[in-house]
Amino acid sequence: MKVLVTGGMGYIGSHTCLALLDAGFQPVIFDNLSNASKAVLTQINKISGVTPAFVEGDIRNTALVRQTLEHYGCEAVIHFAALKAVGESTVEPLNYYDNNVSGTLSLLQAMDSAGVRRIVFSSSATVYGEPDYIPIDEHHPLRATNPYGWSKVMVEQVLADLCQADSRWQATALRYFNPVGAHESGELGENPLGTPNNLMPYVAQVAVGKRSLLSVFGNDYPTADGTGVRDYIHVMDLASGHVMALKARLEGYFACNLGTGQGYSVTQLIETFRQVSGKAIPCEFVERRPGDVPCSYANSELAQQVLGWQAHKDLTAMVTDVWHWQLNYPMGI
Ligand code: NAD
Ligand code: UDP
Repeated sequence: MKVLVTGGMGYIGSHTCLALLDAGFQPVIFDNLSNASKAVLTQINKISGVTPAFVEGDIRNTALVRQTLEHYGCEAVIHFAALKAVGESTVEPLNYYDNNVSGTLSLLQAMDSAGVRRIVFSSSATVYGEPDYIPIDEHHPLRATNPYGWSKVMVEQVLADLCQADSRWQATALRYFNPVGAHESGELGENPLGTPNNLMPYVAQVAVGKRSLLSVFGNDYPTADGTGVRDYIHVMDLASGHVMALKARLEGYFACNLGTGQGYSVTQLIETFRQVSGKAIPCEFVERRPGDVPCSYANSELAQQVLGWQAHKDLTAMVTDVWHWQLNYPMGI
């Protein structure tokens, strides 16, 4: 079965392409390369022996998306393409709503006219805003604290309304917690352009000597060691969640969390990185980062019940794979 993977050259999309190939699907990547390098195709080939079909284009180009779906005979779409920097979204909200919300509307219109009405959507734990309770389950109210988060809430609403209006549509929204890690081969991983916004790639770049110091945002949170707690999930576990969502053959709209259910603090992550890499990782405590929640981790029982999915890889595996990738490609690809 052919699957259009929007944003398939990006971090999570490229790892999902490997999982799709492994499961016998044929990914067709559609990406505008706004946050990815074409070298990803070479890395996918190195690992799998296959170079997926690739169309360079923007999801807001409805005609090109439709043409691509029809040309390749895609039967489903996995939709990763989006802008994802929370801070930037507060400065450029129109750009974020245009890319993430209008872009998705364009994609859905193209799918409808091509008669392809199955979509798996990259949502995020950010749709829960500041959590009322933890672990967070899917009954938790949806809200956001920034335009990026609202763009995810809005797209989820669009998908739910579409499935409600037309029973030919099936949409699954996967709410990722904190994706980290790399492919175990060390040949594919997160390839941030510029300064990383997220903790794990930043720590990796300090460990490899590309950056001198890690700033830890806050050590006065109401957590065991005062630093923020998150549910880090290995990108290959996340990738397998997409394959299982495709295989599940659900009806209507479905949304679920993808997390491990286990929270780790910033300090615990840094300590694990020190142990795995044998590097010092200098850090300093600084002010809290505006908008950060103290603690967030998932209840992922629904994904297990409905998709038969659960995460298998622990924090040491996540860090080991990131370190392997970082050592192989200290300057990225
Ligand atoms: P990424 O930036 O590595 O990948 C996104 C890809 O989409 C990039 O290759 C980019 O070039 C492409 N793209 C962006 N806008 C496009 C457009 N208009 N048309 C075509 N291609 C476009 O990001 P990622 O970390 O792989 O995230 C993938 C998805 O998962 C995103 O929707 C993101 O919001 C969501 N998500 C990510 C995280 C995370 O921490 N990485 C957490 C929760 C949800
Ligand atoms: N964090 C940090 N220094 C950094 C980046 C992140 O201390 O350079 C902290 C951040 O405050 C949060 C945790 O690491 O407590 C995870 O942050 P990340 O940006 O990776 O994920 P998110 O905040 O989106 O959950």
